[in-house]
Amino acid sequence: MSTFDLSNHGLHVPTILRNADPSQLYEEAIQYEPGTRISHSGALIAYSGEKTGRSPQDKRLVKHQDSEQDIWWGPVNFPLDETSFLINRERAKDYLNTRDRLYVVDAFAGWDPQHQIKVRVICSRPYHALFMHQMLIRPTDEQLVDFGEPDFVIYNAGRFPANRHTSGMTSKTSVDVSFENGEVVILGTEYAGEMKKGIFTIMNYLMPKRGVLSMHCSATADRVTGQSSVMFGLSGTGKTTLSADPRRSLIGDDEHGWSDEGIFNIEGGCYAKAIYLSRESEPEIFQALRFGAVLENVVYDDAHHHVDFNNASITQNTRGAYPIEFVTNAKIPCVAGHPTDVIFLTCDAFGVLPPVSQLTPEQAMFHFVNGYTAKIAGTEVGIKEPQATFSPCFGGPFLVWHPQKYADLLAERIRTHQVRVWLVNTGWTGGAYGVGSRMKLAYTRAIIDAIHAGDLHHVPTRTDPIFGMQVVTQCPNVPSAILDPKQAWADPAAYETNARKLAALFEENYAQFQADGVIKGSFDG
Ligand code: ATP
Ligand code: MN
Repeated sequence: MSTFDLSNHGLHVPTILRNADPSQLYEEAIQYEPGTRISHSGALIAYSGEKTGRSPQDKRLVKHQDSEQDIWWGPVNFPLDETSFLINRERAKDYLNTRDRLYVVDAFAGWDPQHQIKVRVICSRPYHALFMHQMLIRPTDEQLVDFGEPDFVIYNAGRFPANRHTSGMTSKTSVDVSFENGEVVILGTEYAGEMKKGIFTIMNYLMPKRGVLSMHCSATADRVTGQSSVMFGLSGTGKTTLSADPRRSLIGDDEHGWSDEGIFNIEGGCYAKAIYLSRESEPEIFQALRFGAVLENVVYDDAHHHVDFNNASITQNTRGAYPIEFVTNAKIPCVAGHPTDVIFLTCDAFGVLPPVSQLTPEQAMFHFVNGYTAKIAGTEVGIKEPQATFSPCFGGPFLVWHPQKYADLLAERIRTHQVRVWLVNTGWTGGAYGVGSRMKLAYTRAIIDAIHAGDLHHVPTRTDPIFGMQVVTQCPNVPSAILDPKQAWADPAAYETNARKLAALFEENYAQFQADGVIKGSFDG
């Protein structure tokens, strides 16, 4: 039936569907993947099996003389020898060859044609193909005819495990990247986000090589001036939620590049957290979860296939993936001018960081390299204390070069374009997790609006005595009482203790980079 063939990849499977439409992938998923459903709103409900989140401990980069010197080996980048990579690749291909049907998605990453790469995804699950069809930049029919050879190929054999006896394997899961071969091999995890973040890892290697800053951030643009603003932040801090902003055009929700020309989205879709999603608080995301979207690991009722967004029984990390044009105010192509504002989002579960403060360029580098957010105890019994998490450049797991590389690029851009930098706490107020409460989304949205409207340029500020940044003390549509976290706490002494504790953790974490001798802790600008 299909004329497309994968024999140059060593794959000889009777049926290969290349760039099938969502409707066809729906049919394939319903027919061949038990458990798949169509939701009441028309989204494809699919399940990723045992793994419902990324496996950062199982991500490996091939150690090769050509790139070895470039890579920040250590906490996020584990080395893999070439032979083990080839064994894993062979294992993936052997598995894919046992299938009757394979799916291929040929598409692009990077909206700026100068920095675009061609990606081929080869997978055995229609759900994975639909996911990447929506997350990558979809080629036109003509572009598909002229596609030629891809720059990177993802072999997704996630349903099949790695062999623990293969050198370097520590579990049955391995996500292996070879920059030299232009290949990613996935074994032992069916979490679709591994493919998306695999591409991001590749871009985090390639872009800085060309002087382009790759960023784990969302981006919006002013509808009139086309100038942009970016929001960095670790998982759950609000990148996707806050970028679905009816006042601005959406450029992207998660991964961007910043070149001499301006910013561009790397992806063609968004991947939103779906837990506790409601039409009222997040209308743009809610309406995007319709026909064509993938809804992962959600629970629904049998009678009507209504999704219960409050049900976390499979995972807290329920997700929806949809093409960016499903968001009403998306700007296509997803490119925009240089940012006027850089916003660092942090979900501070200690409840001590102010809702909004402005950072000097030096403080910006400090917070960028630290990449602070907090994890809450969640449902685990007995754990009351929030846990500080530090992830350099607000994207540690996806960095390839040393954080210094990205920090230098950001510092240079902040200086050149006279960008204002803000720290926004989307986490706790009025006390730490367990005592206070999460910042109201309406207040955070009001803060972001005020930043974009330029309303905070001339409001009164005070220097925080513990953290040092300029705290905004007046912001339209936000009660002044919450703008000063100490005031928001019932017990000021407890505030003081907790704030000092966090400030000490900041310094302690930062010290490791200073010890490296590379982060100078100063900004010569
Ligand atoms: P990831 O990198 O994993 O995609 P993200 O930064 O995009 O994470 P979001 O998907 O935007 O994070 O998740 C933020 C979550 O926190 C949403 O579920 C949102 O409803 C919730 N939330 C609650 N209060 C706030 C707030 N004040 N600001 C932002 N988000 C909030
Ligand atoms: Mn997101």
